[in-house]
Amino acid sequence: MENFETIQCPFCGQSFEIAVDTSIARQRFTTDCEICCRPMEITVECEDGEISSLDVSGN
Ligand SMILES: [Zn+2]
Repeated sequence: MENFETIQCPFCGQSFEIAVDTSIARQRFTTDCEICCRPMEITVECEDGEISSLDVSGN
C-alpha cells in the first residue's frame, strides 16, 4: 500500500509530497528535494498500514 505524505525540506524549507510504502514496518531511504535537489534522509515507521512516525534529516 502506498501513501502520500507531505514532508518539509530541511535545507530550503519547502514542502512537497513523497510516496511511502506503508506495508513496510520500518524503512530508511534518501530522496532529493524537488525544489533545491539536495539529498535528505527519510526514516519512516508504519503500523497497521499507517505511518506512525516520519523523520526527515539533512546530511
Ligand atoms: Zn529543498
